[in-house]
Amino acid sequence: MTSSPGASPTTSTGSPAERAATLDRADPLARFREEFVPSEDVVAYLDGNSLGRPTRASAERLARFATEHWGARLIRGWDESWYGLPLTVGDRIGATVLGAAPGQTFVGDSTTVILYKLVRAALDARPDRTEIVVDTGNFPTDRFVLQGIAAERGATLRWLSPEPDAGVTPAQVAGVVGPGTALVVLSHVAYRSGHLADADVITRVAHDAGALVLWDLCHSAGAVPVELDAWGVDLAAGCTYKYLNGGPGSPAFGYVRAGLQATMTQPIQGWMGSDAPFEMGPAYAPHEGVRRFLSGTPAVVGMLAMQDMLDLLAEAGIDAVRAKSVRLTGFALDLVDELLVPLGVRVASPRDPARRGSHVTIDHAAFEQVLRRLWAQGVVPDFRRPDGLRLGLSPLSTSFTEVQVGVEAIRTALLDEPASA
Ligand SMILES: *Cc1c(COP(=O)(O)O)cnc(C)c1O
Repeated sequence: MTSSPGASPTTSTGSPAERAATLDRADPLARFREEFVPSEDVVAYLDGNSLGRPTRASAERLARFATEHWGARLIRGWDESWYGLPLTVGDRIGATVLGAAPGQTFVGDSTTVILYKLVRAALDARPDRTEIVVDTGNFPTDRFVLQGIAAERGATLRWLSPEPDAGVTPAQVAGVVGPGTALVVLSHVAYRSGHLADADVITRVAHDAGALVLWDLCHSAGAVPVELDAWGVDLAAGCTYKYLNGGPGSPAFGYVRAGLQATMTQPIQGWMGSDAPFEMGPAYAPHEGVRRFLSGTPAVVGMLAMQDMLDLLAEAGIDAVRAKSVRLTGFALDLVDELLVPLGVRVASPRDPARRGSHVTIDHAAFEQVLRRLWAQGVVPDFRRPDGLRLGLSPLSTSFTEVQVGVEAIRTALLDEPASA
């Protein structure tokens, strides 16, 4: 699964630019870069983990939608196709990047709101248990949602504190789960360090204690292989605007294991998740199956672009995507060691490719200043407090040359930064 670079071209000689060019020439996925809308001023886009680039197909699909679908079909569009989209697109996400059989994945609200709905559903399904396990390194919205639910439901949060440069381990989870644990909520890939959790083993550890598991897949879906069905995962949620290139604010997906659906209800009881949305009846009853996790009118326009990225991911295959991701992050680390570590930069991501997602974080006190200069010159990573630059490498759209141009620009900016000398 994790490609073994073997005779890695990253160790070959030559200037960084020559090595990058060699890697690009040898890249079996290189042709996919043509499928994305070019950006005039950006020479190194290193933030595909925050907002994926638009595909050319999406640019066309979005324009056509206004005239040929919305404009031409008007309200008839709902009956003809839009009503079914949350589940049909959900099934495609499930099949292409989640290892999920049909009928378990839906596209709905933001990740934040889906987290809220699924965590509430899980707590209600485990009324004899009152504890939720979460880690201090999880994304703010995950922690905030859990804090709110704990206050609302009188639940207790059991906090794990992973190493900042790494992430949660199975042993840490085993040390905290027990007969009181209702749910374990973790990120598969840590948003700051990029640590890739051992989701398979952690899921088993939680199940052995009788707890349910919810994986946040925001930084994994579309970049690292996920096998929700095979791992026996109960619940999952994740963004579609990151490695699924759905565009800013595109709605998130949720996953509920088929065997759990009938026993779970969610707290935002809207008509779109009810058993008969167009009956306009007096009382709510949940729809059969995964549709019960929907609430209001789905974001149809927001579900357009992700379909084109799913086409590309299906064509490339997630294992090839992962292999390139490992090569990209490995090359980034090689260049960081060579060009930036001598300037006082620290690697804040796992070095073991088997434990690393598709981004690399590097720390330096001057990075907040440096970021402004980089953005102005079309080198676009992002910044995470207190002092981290994240280099997010989206395998189908990022070239090795972009990585090299980016790291060399960081070096030049650091050398010019008065405070960093
Ligand atoms: C990006 C991200 C989110 C974002 O949630 P939204 O509701 O889309 O704002 C949540 N969790 C993780 C782990 C993320 O990386």
